[in-house]
Amino acid sequence: MTQGKVEAQTRFVSWLDGRVTAEGRGDGESVLDADPSGVYWLGRLAPESDAAGVGRERRMAPCAVGMRVRPGDAGPWSFPVRVRALAWNRARGSQDPGEKWEKTKPVDVVIRVDVAAGAVGVAYGGQQIAEALDAAGAPGSSAEVRVTDESWRGDPELVVELVNTTPEGPRQRGERHLFEAELRVLDLETVPFLLESLPESFRYDRRLPAIGINCGVAVLEPRELATTDQVIVERNRPQYTFDRTDAAVLSLTFDRLIDDPVATLTRLVDAYAMWGRDHWSPERLRRRADDENWQPEMLRQAQEAAEEHAGELERLRAGVEALRQDAELRRAFELMNRAMSLAARGRYSGWRPFQIGFVLSVLPSLVREGSDWGTVETVWFATGGGKTETYLALLVLAAFYDRLRGKLAGITAWSRFPLRMLSLQQTQRFADALAAAEVVRQDHHVPGDPISLGYFIGSGATPNEVPTAPTEHNPVDVDDPGMADRYQVLTACPFCGSEDLKMKFHRGDWTLRHVCKASQCRSGGRPLPVYVVDQEIYRFLPTVVIGTLDKAALISMQGGMRAFVEGPAGRCSRPGHGFTYAKRAKRPSGCLVPDCPGESSPLAARERTRFAPSFRLQDELHLLRDSLGAVDSHYESLLDALQLELTGTTPKIIASSATLTGFERQVRVLYNRPGRVFPVPGPSARESFWTRDTSSLLRRFVAVWPRGVTLEWVSDRTTTILQQSVRRLVDEPQRVCAEAGIDPSHVPMLLDLYGTHVVYGNTVRDVEAARRSLGTQVPVTPLNAAQLTGQTPFEEVRETLQRLLRPEPGFNDRLHVVTASSMISHGVDVDRLNVMTVLGVPLTTAEFIQATARVGRSHPGLVYVIHKVGRERDAAVFSHFTPFIEQGDRFVEPIPVTRSSRRVLELTTSAAIEARRLFVHEPRSAWGRLTTVDMLRKYAAQTGLGATEEARACAAALGVEEQHHLAFGDVNRLLETYFMRLENPGDGAKWPQQLLARPPMRSLRDVEAQIPVSDD
Ligand SMILES: [Zn+2]
Ligand SMILES: [Zn+2]
Repeated sequence: MTQGKVEAQTRFVSWLDGRVTAEGRGDGESVLDADPSGVYWLGRLAPESDAAGVGRERRMAPCAVGMRVRPGDAGPWSFPVRVRALAWNRARGSQDPGEKWEKTKPVDVVIRVDVAAGAVGVAYGGQQIAEALDAAGAPGSSAEVRVTDESWRGDPELVVELVNTTPEGPRQRGERHLFEAELRVLDLETVPFLLESLPESFRYDRRLPAIGINCGVAVLEPRELATTDQVIVERNRPQYTFDRTDAAVLSLTFDRLIDDPVATLTRLVDAYAMWGRDHWSPERLRRRADDENWQPEMLRQAQEAAEEHAGELERLRAGVEALRQDAELRRAFELMNRAMSLAARGRYSGWRPFQIGFVLSVLPSLVREGSDWGTVETVWFATGGGKTETYLALLVLAAFYDRLRGKLAGITAWSRFPLRMLSLQQTQRFADALAAAEVVRQDHHVPGDPISLGYFIGSGATPNEVPTAPTEHNPVDVDDPGMADRYQVLTACPFCGSEDLKMKFHRGDWTLRHVCKASQCRSGGRPLPVYVVDQEIYRFLPTVVIGTLDKAALISMQGGMRAFVEGPAGRCSRPGHGFTYAKRAKRPSGCLVPDCPGESSPLAARERTRFAPSFRLQDELHLLRDSLGAVDSHYESLLDALQLELTGTTPKIIASSATLTGFERQVRVLYNRPGRVFPVPGPSARESFWTRDTSSLLRRFVAVWPRGVTLEWVSDRTTTILQQSVRRLVDEPQRVCAEAGIDPSHVPMLLDLYGTHVVYGNTVRDVEAARRSLGTQVPVTPLNAAQLTGQTPFEEVRETLQRLLRPEPGFNDRLHVVTASSMISHGVDVDRLNVMTVLGVPLTTAEFIQATARVGRSHPGLVYVIHKVGRERDAAVFSHFTPFIEQGDRFVEPIPVTRSSRRVLELTTSAAIEARRLFVHEPRSAWGRLTTVDMLRKYAAQTGLGATEEARACAAALGVEEQHHLAFGDVNRLLETYFMRLENPGDGAKWPQQLLARPPMRSLRDVEAQIPVSDD
């Protein structure tokens, strides 16, 4: 019988972890050429007399392990405790006595413990253990079991510990630490603890069998609790189709949805309704309340959740109804399915129910009936579930729907990531989907400009513009033959998948383009529909623009941003030049191509308003917090206000988030709109209509407490052991396979999937330190390493991703270790990454969830979380690691975000003033430009524009209401000063920017780090 791949992978993960644990504890070693107290980090106990400090120091090198238990009765109590430990001695007769150590025999003693109520630190078995240690070869070593009754906390509660009591002095030749120490509580009936730090919920189990002290606790038998050196928690892989959504029962293939979308989706919604009757009916909830002992509050919560389910069901029905009634929407839906089928290139043939469910839930608002348009739709789903494709489905659908209703050019959607470095992989997936949409557009004769993608990143990664000659601010050199290659964003042709791509700068139309060289490619050697230079994005207005959130700052600086809230000024008469904007001294026609001799033909006002984007998307919503969230909330308002004033429309906002904690408030703060999430959570944490856990391993999380040694030491040792162990697959495959119980035919696959290890640091400094120590502290050669942080140059990121995705054929040539920061947490999807070490618990739970989701995406993953136990937070996470992993989302901290910070308002008011000058006033001015103070003054005089009116407009644009007197007063004052300077530019201000109290922000992160953001 051949062994399945998943089985082999699961066994290998378990074997790998077993290797690390064994080496960390010293299992199987009997001699050592170094003091074991400097080597092992698991299972050791420091002598109590050395552990002088309390709290932090004690945690670093604990002298005790044990557990807190709740006996079933009020005592006195009598039960056996089993203790295991051993010691190490300097080797007898060794030439160099300091260098050789030998392990003693292990001791294994059972001690009877009789505890009276009120006992405090009562010791048991000291003599018995000391005698056993003496007999095992460790004279002078001693330990005892200590028990304290802590029933004063409310319920019967005992603390049972094993303490190393070895005194100073008598161990002449020996190490005073004890090793491989373990304590078991036997035959004591206990009741579980309830995790008080988490609220009651009908979805989760809050029970804990015992609480470890400096360790984990495993339940070996119903009445056998054992300390464990590490806490291991396994999560299982979810599945997305089962029971009523099983493919055999309900087919959601692209073909089915192209042929008969309404009937197919009706079946999906009917299935959801039936499932809801099973799980959310009042009878069902009452039965669960009885069976699971719910408090009345929990029943009430469950009833509310049932209503949310009913609401979602109703929206899905309305989505099907929209499709039935609106022929254009139905056509767009069909074309979207054709495009996504093409983009899938046979890798998958249809949708997971939740993916198409989300699209369905947004359809009612697309037809712009009712008030749904103004609701922010957030898709919340475990990473790896296919969120990007869900997004893409919606974008492609929206692009077709726009085209079919007469919007033939312009941006349909602007999708933002909160981080500076936008994932190249994500970009490729967007490009693939949009190229497929373009093919479908051509084949089905859908009118309008080609469907295309804009990569809106700029500064550093891709150029803002290509100047005719390099300048101080823009070093891009058009004459440098290597220039174009530096800005390659795609790794494969989105039409044909070929990797034979060339970058070209075309002087004739001044464009930097990707070109596919494959002979059979649909692109036929023409530039691929992807724009990576900011100026080209303004000139060609790609259908979908993806980029970083920071780019919103350009709304107060770049005339080209007009097309992000309204439309361009016109079209250049020269072919290939694209759209034009406000005239400038250097751009007399408004064409953005340098020295263009052409003329601009203006767009009709009505046509221009059609250009406004239909959607703004925000990925990783939870990262918009603190000052970034505060600043962004004002820019979101500004974008909305400009678009509303200029076109009478606002875009629909779609978001994705890793957490639901406080999400409604966050959406309200950021967008001034109500929010909704899809899907609403199911009746239990493990199952909903859309997903449920299988029995197959997703990730094994191992919480590590580095006892007595540094975190860095443990990290380096872990890397060493992992790499050495994996390499044994090459050197002695038969033996490893026998040890791990794996069929040898799987060796190449395992080497591929577990040969590259990620070391994750919370700060760039941690990451760099880890990288440096790989060279000196990890004695494995060759050891090829790469680093991925926000500081890593763009080209290097691209190369590293390529090496990870398409590894070299020989193991020795591949990357073995990647040191990384949170930069990889967003959009790095490499199925080959399955082992990770996390250096200290990340500051937020959301980051922990995102970071660790980088491994085990398609195959079982192994994650070591090495705790910085000196930190309170890490110690706390270690002590409830199991629920932390199993109920991760419940630990996510509420996201601190506010829009009413006056400090931030001071910064963003300048942006509002400038954006209104560029997009509201300049197009209305008689000269078509308001670039000097003189022009602006004349314009104000002619139109009667004054401080009061403009202050009201700016405040409204920033979402500041008049009843917020303080904030409103601030904006007023800033505008009064502005207009005063406009009238009397005593200091000789020539440019409107010089009238501002401070220049507009260049990036949304420009806030000085120290600015406290509060609701002041
Ligand atoms: Zn191609
Ligand atoms: Zn031109």
